[in-house]
Amino acid sequence: MDCCSTSSSLLTLSQALDKLLSQVEPVDQTEQIDLTQAADRITAQAITSPLNVPPFDNSAMDGYAVRRNEVTESAELPIAGKAFAGQPFHGEWPAASCIRIMTGAPIPTGTDAVIMQEQAEVLENGVRFTAMPKAGQNIRLAGEDIRQGAEVLPAGSKLGVAQLPLLASLGVAQVTVYRRLKVALFSTGDELQTIGQPLQEGQIYDTNRFAVRLMLEKLDCDVIDLGIIRDDETAIRDAFAKADALADVVITSGGVSVGDADYTKQILEEMGEISFWKLAIKPGKPFAFGRLSHALFCGLPGNPVSAALTFYQLVQPLLIKLSGYSQWQKPRQIKVKTTTALKKSPGRLDFQRGILSSNAQGELEVRTTGHQGSHVFSSFSQGNCFIVLELERGSVAAGEWVTVEPFNPLLES
Ligand code: AMP
Ligand code: MG
Repeated sequence: MDCCSTSSSLLTLSQALDKLLSQVEPVDQTEQIDLTQAADRITAQAITSPLNVPPFDNSAMDGYAVRRNEVTESAELPIAGKAFAGQPFHGEWPAASCIRIMTGAPIPTGTDAVIMQEQAEVLENGVRFTAMPKAGQNIRLAGEDIRQGAEVLPAGSKLGVAQLPLLASLGVAQVTVYRRLKVALFSTGDELQTIGQPLQEGQIYDTNRFAVRLMLEKLDCDVIDLGIIRDDETAIRDAFAKADALADVVITSGGVSVGDADYTKQILEEMGEISFWKLAIKPGKPFAFGRLSHALFCGLPGNPVSAALTFYQLVQPLLIKLSGYSQWQKPRQIKVKTTTALKKSPGRLDFQRGILSSNAQGELEVRTTGHQGSHVFSSFSQGNCFIVLELERGSVAAGEWVTVEPFNPLLES
């Protein structure tokens, strides 16, 4: 096989990513908001704990608080009082006695161990213990989980289900986050129709705007949807001017490849500094990137699988960086065997859609979703991962090892 069939004008995915990310700095505007409004927002400062967690020494068991030097095999210690969670013991604690204590109750002053009730016998004159306690036994110390002043989240963290309840447990009521990104979006093409309208001859429904809008919403962007713009010079020019004025990033689909009715290229060349790339990936060869007079611009290819894939592989990391989300992790890749043969020509990095599952032996394996055409959007709904086939690789036989990239939440249902 010819390993070098990539023409030098094709840009690899990592070259394209480097170029794109080198032109982007995170937004610097921040705002302070209530924790209850902070889902999916990105922290602009490290968050430190205002409290010790737990806030006070407390019992890990239902049992008895004791002073160890008073516990012997024969001693019967009368119960001097009770300590419950939320109801501390504040009374007198005479010598040679113990205190009944429940899980979560503050440890009475002087306690140096808690003996669990399973190791205690309640007798007529008091409690006798069947096991000698070790120092500090069953006592959860203040600050053992989180120390006051310790960093709980670095700047650039996304606030989700794992983070927000943690902050709530620390009593953090407000957080400083980056402002949300404004992203304007439109599709170009005379053939496109909006859902709800009947298709005229030669028309197709607009898939890309839907796909991109949903992914933008999952990325917590403010979406400005400018609809379908006809292949008309004035209409396209107006749409770009409007989008540029309103948004941080403008995303379009269609019109970035070579085609007679595509005015997009010409208008963009006048309006800003845009590069038209031919990417060495499949699907998704044409892609445009640059800056209009104010906003960044990403021009996705028209074919729906190509549009969604280039959004996922290139625009997602761009928006993540711009949003200030520095703790983001790229989708992880794993190596598994394919159970189906995969057709491929050398020269581009393929992102075929696959179905990752476990076999009877509990091992992960992958199979193709079938037709890999750049217009076959159903491959996303059938699949749950990309089968990433190296640029220089040719067709793959069943049983060969392949790299798989499970869809991240952007593409998951
Ligand atoms: P283009 O890049 O504009 O030449 O379009 C390439 C292919 O993608 C053509 O078959 C278009 O009809 C199709 N296409 C373009 N935009 C969309 C869209 N928003 N939804 C579905 N298909 C599209
Ligand atoms: Mg078009």
